[in-house]
Amino acid sequence: MKIHLDLDAFFIAAERIKDPSLQDVPAAVGGRGDPFIFDSKSAHKIDTVHDNNGAFVPSIFYNADANFRDYFVEGGKIRGIIITASYEARKYGIKTGMTVREALELCPHLRVVAPNHLFYHQLSHRLHLFLKRRIPAVEQFSIDEFFGDVSGWVEREELEDFLRSLQKEIEERFGLPISIGAAKSKWTAKLATSFAKPQGIKIVDDVESFIRDIPIEEFPGIGRGYLRRLRTLGITTLGETRQIRHIFYSWKKPGITLYRRIWGIDDEPIVQASPRKSIGISRTIDPVSDRGELRRRILILARHLSSSIAKLRLQPTYYTLGVRYENGLKTKAHLRSHRLFSEKLLQCIALELFSQCDDGYTPVMRLGISCSGFYASKLYDLWHIYEDKKLARLLECSQKVRTKFGMDSLRWGVEMLEAAKPPGENIS
Ligand SMILES: [Mg+2]
Repeated sequence: MKIHLDLDAFFIAAERIKDPSLQDVPAAVGGRGDPFIFDSKSAHKIDTVHDNNGAFVPSIFYNADANFRDYFVEGGKIRGIIITASYEARKYGIKTGMTVREALELCPHLRVVAPNHLFYHQLSHRLHLFLKRRIPAVEQFSIDEFFGDVSGWVEREELEDFLRSLQKEIEERFGLPISIGAAKSKWTAKLATSFAKPQGIKIVDDVESFIRDIPIEEFPGIGRGYLRRLRTLGITTLGETRQIRHIFYSWKKPGITLYRRIWGIDDEPIVQASPRKSIGISRTIDPVSDRGELRRRILILARHLSSSIAKLRLQPTYYTLGVRYENGLKTKAHLRSHRLFSEKLLQCIALELFSQCDDGYTPVMRLGISCSGFYASKLYDLWHIYEDKKLARLLECSQKVRTKFGMDSLRWGVEMLEAAKPPGENIS
């Protein structure tokens, strides 16, 4: 049997550990997408995390110890969106993705707190380590979800007792409520968990009778494209998909995979550790037209990203910069380079990619840089190797300073200069 564990309203549960007065009341964690990373003064503490392999969370966090007014109020207006709402708050119709202002209209006594992603991350990491000691194979699926394989470890007759004691132990040790689903396959187990919430356990033995009347949109990870196609075919429940098995199979591999997942016959294993494929940083911002300011922000993103890359000792060979404009249009540019990684290299590449893909005038709403194509061997561009080695060494040293004194303690002068430059001028 495979199991799926999902923490209930994780972020708010975590906040309740720190502040018990949030217990049993409508409460929510709201977020503002790290608006302070671009501040030119380093008034805010920014933390980085590097042991998040597989947790799919950003590695750079603005550490919010701020009160409601400091964090959510700007220019007399309430900003931010709800990230997680407690079950008490959900009774008022408060949902993830709603603006904080809307949520407060629905429930004026709602307690909204700023997020502390670093703390959630640490909790999640500790829970992962704990689960690895209790279950033979554990896969971290997201910051608050895990898959496990208990085949040959727990007999079917003992499974419910085992899961109950596991659930109880997690609650006692971590103070975190959790729901658990179990089935022969991962995706059926995940679907089962959604029926166990909150703080429940659901074991599925007979997939066919379990999924028969479940609406198709409730299946984990079913895309909008498939939903539309299935609706056109008149399919509304998971049970009905059996009649059109041949159609799923005509959709080739993704269609076949989906069909097998729905019927719990996929046999997908628990993946204990996945090698890192890419690492990136991106931020949504209030629209900015000033190209100098945008270049300054790109340099800040490059600084944070290069610090993460240095800590993980990665040698990327593929670089991507993405821009989203206020009008909804997106643009991207890529570059392959075998030069030894350094912060300076990332800065130059990022600015070069920006000049390649940017139209030069449309207000920008989102900036992102990512690196991939990690290299294990030592095949470098020899033309620049002496200069690159010096720069790589410099990054190593900067890293020590930043670990000790924070990400803003050391910056390249060019970050400050960029903002003052006239538009169109390039860096060399
Ligand atoms: Mg959850």
